[in-house]
Amino acid sequence: AADALGSDESAAIHLNDITKRFDDLVAVDDLDLTIRPGEFLVLLGPSGCGKSTTLRMIAGLEVPSEGSIEIGDREVTETLPQKRDLSMVFQSYALYPHKTVEGNLAFPLGKLDLDDDEEERRIQRTAELLEIDDLLDNKPGQLSGGQRQRVALGRTIVREPKAFLMDEPLSNLDAKLRVQTRSELRSLQQQLGTTTVYVTHDQEEAMSLADRIAVMNDGKLQQVGTPKEVYENPVNEFVAGFLGEPAMNFLEPDQFDAPGQFDAAETVGVRPEDVEVAEESSAAADGGHYYELDGEALVVEPLGNAYEIEFDCGGEQVTARLRERPETVESGTSATLRLPAEAVHRFGEDGEVIGE
Ligand code: ATP
Repeated sequence: AADALGSDESAAIHLNDITKRFDDLVAVDDLDLTIRPGEFLVLLGPSGCGKSTTLRMIAGLEVPSEGSIEIGDREVTETLPQKRDLSMVFQSYALYPHKTVEGNLAFPLGKLDLDDDEEERRIQRTAELLEIDDLLDNKPGQLSGGQRQRVALGRTIVREPKAFLMDEPLSNLDAKLRVQTRSELRSLQQQLGTTTVYVTHDQEEAMSLADRIAVMNDGKLQQVGTPKEVYENPVNEFVAGFLGEPAMNFLEPDQFDAPGQFDAAETVGVRPEDVEVAEESSAAADGGHYYELDGEALVVEPLGNAYEIEFDCGGEQVTARLRERPETVESGTSATLRLPAEAVHRFGEDGEVIGE
């Protein structure tokens, strides 16, 4: 991150209260967000929440119905895509089969009018970064699939754009390759220090890639923060439920012996990994350190490094994820679930979190 690009304010992207309507449909609703120079920002949300439309407005492929977009201090709301100095990364890439790797890397530079030394420098830098510098004289047909993909990525990088824009670029890779490519992408972005906006509906992908995650739902920005912030301190029920696998458990205060202990909460949330399982009620609950619930174990699932247990608590299903299997718990047995007070999230009628 010490890279000069990383602190360059001209690589910040400001979305100033942008709204996008398609006829009656509000795809993006009054979105106000700054993407900081050099950061890896992930736009995360379910299908149809407006993330691609947001990315397309940054790219210049859609024009906002309201609001403005700035890159650095330059207003670009209606600027043509090719005049924004951004680079959109696509899922699949085509290479010129008759050109060498060097020729393929040089091609996107044609329009930039660089002198020969600068062109040479950029090609070398890109090739070294992607570890394809000993393949510069080869043709695409002589390369492996992975090498070809690197050359294609190199064509995006060699332009040294202000920012990379990526819309689910890994979605057509199989699970294993996706995880591998994901970590390569992250390390590449860190070396380059280039501002990156990345769209995905996959919360795990978002958690592993992002400096900050912007969670969207129904066209509206819900929360922006580091992966840790949005996971540990979700501002509303939507964010709480969208991040985390298995998902947070949601319960009604009425399901506890003393519903009044949650004050104004309509819903109580607790993550599976925070649920503790005891054989019987303990005095600790009385001290206010734990909330307790009685449950019957339905399924005990070993996961290799953990156990996931589904409980039925008065008709509601509660998932616990435990490092070790409690010896006495198997399907059909009853147990006391203990929820540590500090791990319990309380949500009001409007779904917003209730502060301490
Ligand atoms: P996905 O992950 O499924 O791509 P998304 O979060 O990226 O979803 P968008 O593609 O931004 O969502 O779409 C947001 C809403 O806007 C959706 O209801 C979609 O149907 C609608 N929409 C997007 N583009 C257009 C268009 N060109 N014309 C009309 N409606 C559109």
